[in-house]
Amino acid sequence: MPWDELTDEQREIRELVRELARERVAPRAAEIDASHEFPWDVVELFREHEIFGLLFDEEWGGTGTGTLLALVAIEEVSKVCATSGLLLAVQELGSLGLKLAGTQEQRERYLPRVASGESLCAYALTEAGSGSDSAAMRTTARRDGDDYVLNGSKRFITNAGVAQLYTVFAKTDPDAGHDGISAFVVEADTPGFEVTRLEPKMGISGSTTGELAFDGMRVPAANLLGEEGDGFRIAMRILDRSRPGVAAQALGIAQGATDYALEYAKTRETMGRPIAQHQLIQAKLADMETECEAARGLLYRFGRMADDGVDGPELTKASAMAKLKCGDVAMAVSTEAVQILGGYGYIREYPVERFMRDAKITQIYEGTQEIQRLVIAREMLRESRAFLLAGVG
Ligand SMILES: Cc1cc2nc3c(=O)[nH]c(=O)nc-3n(C[C@H](O)[C@H](O)[C@H](O)COP(=O)(O)OP(=O)(O)OC[C@H]3O[C@@H](n4cnc5c(N)ncnc54)[C@H](O)[C@@H]3O)c2cc1C
Repeated sequence: MPWDELTDEQREIRELVRELARERVAPRAAEIDASHEFPWDVVELFREHEIFGLLFDEEWGGTGTGTLLALVAIEEVSKVCATSGLLLAVQELGSLGLKLAGTQEQRERYLPRVASGESLCAYALTEAGSGSDSAAMRTTARRDGDDYVLNGSKRFITNAGVAQLYTVFAKTDPDAGHDGISAFVVEADTPGFEVTRLEPKMGISGSTTGELAFDGMRVPAANLLGEEGDGFRIAMRILDRSRPGVAAQALGIAQGATDYALEYAKTRETMGRPIAQHQLIQAKLADMETECEAARGLLYRFGRMADDGVDGPELTKASAMAKLKCGDVAMAVSTEAVQILGGYGYIREYPVERFMRDAKITQIYEGTQEIQRLVIAREMLRESRAFLLAGVG
């Protein structure tokens, strides 16, 4: 058996997810992409096989198998269908607020139905005028008796219209900058909540991306996450832990593209032999495989750190590095896969053009690659390596 860093139990679960992905999700992937329809059948499949549970502790009905395995599951599904991999990544993104900052009562109320997949969830931070600069948001939340009244809108929200639970960020004190933002759990059937638009996209076509409007929407104060003013810190802590989910999606795309290109190269012949026998093609394949493995190293390292209870700046940096590397590898490797297939790579009949379109979003959402670099550099500048200067000068 090839060397494997996962434990026997983790390997067994990965095998189950891999088989499910290959046998049940892969045959649907091209259709999901072409139809632009949300894959409710894949959601149902994940519910039946308790795949959403891989993201949650046993206390909430999950498997309690940890972060590394959750990332491996997202990678395995994304190898065949990035939209389906995103179902898992966003279930994590949308529920992390509850996991990290929810009260016992809030968690008991919501997490079991999210862990089973009965309710899908979403994370609503971005607005038309505030993406990377999320603190510039305009949505407001005003306390009124036992409720907060929310007014404003959110843009580009994954799972818009299919999620039942949204983690929504709004300004409770518009003059207090980062400290004036608060986080709420919002149920989709709350009066004043509306999905006003769904976006057609380049890739991840089966996933919904939409605009939310809040018009005098009353949210019970009991749905405030943490304290008033904690919202920005909660949003950033969520992203620290959710970005690796996007990294896992990206890595799955990259490995899926590499595996497909390899098999194609063994069968396509030019100049009297399979293109896999041409050294320039071999060099591409070697670079693609090496880049995937390097990206996997950073991603799994994050998973092990999270499972060991590491938190704070060290985890922030590891998360940003995993997202940066995996996203860039997904884009570069899927582009090379298209090149290896030549003209066939460019047409819809072959999956690599879908991989290439799906890869691009992993360099954009949950913080662009530029923002990841800012985060990594910020943490580097915070760290002390003063010993290097000792004795100089
Ligand atoms: C398909 C899709 C799904 C999404 N899902 C969600 C979701 O579920 N929830 C959610 O809240 N948001 C979601 N987003 C929003 C996404 O996170 C933002 O689009 C992203 O953070 C970038 O913000 P922006 O689009 O406003 O770009 P901008 O912030 O306007 O950035 C434009 C460009 O400038 C660069 N830039 C910005 N600031 C700096 C800086 N200080 N230094 C250097 N370069 C900089 C950026 O990297 C980018 O290249 C989604 C977006 C898409 C397209």
